[in-house]
Amino acid sequence: MSTEHTSHNDILPEPEVVEVSEGIFAYIQHDGSWCLNNPAFVDAGGQVIAIDACATERRTRAFRDAISSLSPNPVRTLVNTHSHFDHTYGNFLFADDAVIVGHRRCREDVLRDAPDLPARAPMMFPGVEWGEFRPAAPSVVFDDAMTLFAGDLELQLIYVSPAHTNTDAVVWIPERRVLIAGDIVFNRGTPFALMGSVAGWRSALVRLKQLPIETVIAGHGPVADASVLDEVDAYLAFVQDSARSAYDAGVDPLAAARDLDLGRFGEWTDTERIVGNLHRAYSELRGEAWGAEIDMFAAMGQMLEYNGGQPLRCLA
Ligand SMILES: [Zn+2]
Repeated sequence: MSTEHTSHNDILPEPEVVEVSEGIFAYIQHDGSWCLNNPAFVDAGGQVIAIDACATERRTRAFRDAISSLSPNPVRTLVNTHSHFDHTYGNFLFADDAVIVGHRRCREDVLRDAPDLPARAPMMFPGVEWGEFRPAAPSVVFDDAMTLFAGDLELQLIYVSPAHTNTDAVVWIPERRVLIAGDIVFNRGTPFALMGSVAGWRSALVRLKQLPIETVIAGHGPVADASVLDEVDAYLAFVQDSARSAYDAGVDPLAAARDLDLGRFGEWTDTERIVGNLHRAYSELRGEAWGAEIDMFAAMGQMLEYNGGQPLRCLA
């Protein structure tokens, strides 16, 4: 067990590139648990638009190499789906040649959180080799929506927060019916709403289900069809129902989580997120605004307690 956090790079399959529609690629990092996101890229009209970076220098370099092995075209634009480090810490590896685009709040949070990540992260995620870093946040920002073109192919960036965070945008490619969902979709991984809103996330899913989606590139986990939106919603409804009865009984989120039978959701990765999700649902039951500030330190601490006092499993 002493090598748990040092040999982890060797225990997972290599990332996999999946072309979901002509020129639209998902870069699947197995097994999709903490820190192992799926960036994506669109190669059309003689240029590449990349969607998200990775958690570390090494992983982002591998993603960039995968792009250049499949396309001679330069990455001119990098879209950040949200501020979390596993999607943005490697931004700087694109910054010399590409404009970085994201929601206004994504820019704010990346500027605030990224520089001291290696100092803060070890409490939660020890043993990660972050590698080199330079600050690189979105310099082109939007508030509600923005449209990008790669050649003739239209990419619509749609702000859907508060949901997973307060910074979430999805990328919708109407001509191909492809949704690049960022962390609005975890496929077979536990959704994590602590930094956003459980109710707001469900509302975002209602909105996204209006779109004629055929293919979903999840922020974590395998490529899916539109039914994965119902899976995420089923979990969030379960969180709300569980929170309601425990809150009414005066049970705190950690005790409530320990009492809960996760059922089929117990087979998904990173089940300890239930604790953070209950903290967020309790905030909403207290009548606080969606995405309101809550005590993150307390919630994360209880997540570690639920996890047997162990740090979380981050295989980046
Ligand atoms: Zn995230």
